[in-house]
Amino acid sequence: MPRQVDVAVLGGGQAGLATSYHLRRVGIDHVVLDDRAHPGGAWASTWPSLRLFSPSAYSSLPGWPMPPHPDTFPPVQHVRAYLRDYEARYDLPVERPVRVDDVRSTPDRLLVGTDHGELAARYVVSATGTWAAPFVPMIEGASTFAGRQLHSAQYRGPEDFAGQRVAVVGGGNSGVQITADLVETAEWVSLVTARRLRFLPDDVDGRHLFDEASARLRDPHAAEAAFVGNIVALPAVRRARERGALRVRAMFDRMVPEGAVIGRDRIELDTVIWCTGFRPALRHLRSLRLRTSTGIPEVSGNRSVRDRRVCFVGYGDWTGPASATLIGVGRTAKALAAELAAELGARG
Ligand code: FAD
Repeated sequence: MPRQVDVAVLGGGQAGLATSYHLRRVGIDHVVLDDRAHPGGAWASTWPSLRLFSPSAYSSLPGWPMPPHPDTFPPVQHVRAYLRDYEARYDLPVERPVRVDDVRSTPDRLLVGTDHGELAARYVVSATGTWAAPFVPMIEGASTFAGRQLHSAQYRGPEDFAGQRVAVVGGGNSGVQITADLVETAEWVSLVTARRLRFLPDDVDGRHLFDEASARLRDPHAAEAAFVGNIVALPAVRRARERGALRVRAMFDRMVPEGAVIGRDRIELDTVIWCTGFRPALRHLRSLRLRTSTGIPEVSGNRSVRDRRVCFVGYGDWTGPASATLIGVGRTAKALAAELAAELGARG
């Protein structure tokens, strides 16, 4: 007989913790299963020079604000410590390391298969993030490239690239931050992007992105974004830009064994770092066949339309405006906990 819980939260990063906080507040019996040995979710695996793009006060989970940090944009180590302390402060029921391999449907329960046995839950909240599913676009000739290719999820700092010729592909925040991180160490680094870089004004940061998401929540037809950019000009990025070190090239036409071809230029490269985003890590739900041709499940609110017992928190705007941010995920988690409490209460 598998262990019974009302709700199994899958993933113990910020989304799992925020969900657990709100489930606890409404008195729902639950467990959080996380496959990592230590707290922190994806923040525990990022490169050490990563900084938040918003100040602490705009990076808080529900209940306990992120402690202030002397730097306007706190370093990733501050976020890791905050998540560790948050989990301990509320004594959240996180079990780790427990990997969820499978979720199967029966008429009255969802059976959660893990490497530590099976659980039977009335509801499952999937909060496994995107870090485990890095996305790399298909580029002609990519498999012939003789150098090294890695995704930003595997980037651990500039030291590995000393004296190398590096192309960083992707014009979002990760691509720009990693390029800035490499300019002192690599022999040559270029940012390769299909679109023009769009910086937010220097005095505007991630707070603005959150405010915009809030405005859209209040009114889905809200006025156009006030700024066209999405890249936050963090101090290291600004320094690199001011030195003229943020060299930008158009996207590769194709890759070749020694590098890449862009228009008439053939560029020799040692390494290509793909900063081309992530997909939701949903492999553990494959038996439920919830995904549609869009690659994500069809949801209403943040619950699967095909099986309302399966809920999603934290993956992106499809699970709630700004729900893939520290400050935004609490709102989604709170609404979901209230909904589940009402349904569980009605069942008695
Ligand atoms: P995760 O942190 O990935 O947590 C999911 C957890 O589930 C992990 O511990 C994972 O190991 C575990 N898991 C996965 N699969 C399974 C499984 N099958 N079984 C059990 N456990 C599993 N947001 C901000 O608010 N401010 C920022 O400045 C900011 N900067 C960012 C910079 C970068 C480079 C990136 C990539 C994201 C940034 N974000 C930022 C966005 C967001 O806050 C993070 O991506 C955040 O880590 C998402 O949290 P999560 O809990 O949804 O996922």
